Amino acid sequence: MDSNSIHNPLKTLAMSSKRHRCAACFKQYKKREHLIEHMKISYHSAHQPKCGVCQKHCKSFESLKEHTTGALSKRNCSEVFSKRGCNLCMRIFESPVFLIEHEHVCRLQAPTPLGHSAESQIYDPPLIIENERESRPEAVAIDCAMAGGGSDGTLDVCVRVCLVNEDEKLIFDTYILPQIPITNYRYEVTGITEDHLKDAMPLEEVRDKILHILHNGESIGILRLSGGKARVLVGHELERDLYCLSTHYPDHLLRDTAKYPPLMKTNLMSHSLKYLANTYLGYHMQSEMHDPYQNCVSAMRLYTRLRSQKHQTKANELLSTCRKITKGYDSLTYKEIESMSSNELFDVSKSNYKCWCLD
Ligand SMILES: [Zn+2]
Ligand SMILES: [Zn+2]
Ligand SMILES: [Zn+2]
Ligand SMILES: [Zn+2]
Repeated sequence: MDSNSIHNPLKTLAMSSKRHRCAACFKQYKKREHLIEHMKISYHSAHQPKCGVCQKHCKSFESLKEHTTGALSKRNCSEVFSKRGCNLCMRIFESPVFLIEHEHVCRLQAPTPLGHSAESQIYDPPLIIENERESRPEAVAIDCAMAGGGSDGTLDVCVRVCLVNEDEKLIFDTYILPQIPITNYRYEVTGITEDHLKDAMPLEEVRDKILHILHNGESIGILRLSGGKARVLVGHELERDLYCLSTHYPDHLLRDTAKYPPLMKTNLMSHSLKYLANTYLGYHMQSEMHDPYQNCVSAMRLYTRLRSQKHQTKANELLSTCRKITKGYDSLTYKEIESMSSNELFDVSKSNYKCWCLD
């Protein structure tokens, strides 16, 4: 106890009722064990979206937005953010001038919709990379258009698929011969008619071509294990696309903008791709109709933007390896956890999703 507090009863009281503060989200607890419980279920990590002013970690960009610009935002943070913060990527800049410069790059133009020409069919797979292992896997984005099958037209039947590469180049685009009769073309949404599907590609051939692109010459064993030189598959609600194509791809190679925690709602529901493009890339998807190319490009842009974030500093990485705390709370005894400071508790805490910056 310092000499000051002896003469200041209020301060003494404040010290004796000292609260335990989470080093990541700043929540406070009267009891230490409650802080420890909180840390065990919060999965805080350096990869969480973070306020550039007070350094508070948030579960998602949505909660970071609430913190910096919402009705209950922190005053100091919202003041700084309103002058020097980018509304799209949520970064803070040194001065308003830097911010204006940055916004020119950060706000993107909507990709031009592909349209629905009946002839269009493109298959231009990227070359297989023969060298050992690229520093990170290449990414390919996919989107499917679905018409309706079954007596009431509610069964999703995949009738078109698009794939783009990281340069937003269309590498595969084809209409697909439906496996079952189409009872509802959902024309207002798909823009697809019977005419489009006359000379369409059989599903099996489509699947082979997609897997050829994705596998990139890698063996199935390595692909399932580590991925090797196989490409990662980017998209929005990928499960639905893969299901409709009746195909599988390992979970660890999927990058889904609908399922990625930083891009989800605070209540862990998915946002629409339209909303994400508008909120984080800065453009409105032009057409009301479903345009697979526009969707592919938007998902790819979200992925590459988030992949380029720098979270893990070298010093940081070294620290956690030195302390052998890479396994998180499960590898520690209760006694070890008990003796840790708030900061150390945060160091041990591990994310429950794989951050795209690690690709
Ligand atoms: Zn916390
Ligand atoms: Zn990260
Ligand atoms: Zn803040
Ligand atoms: Zn920005």
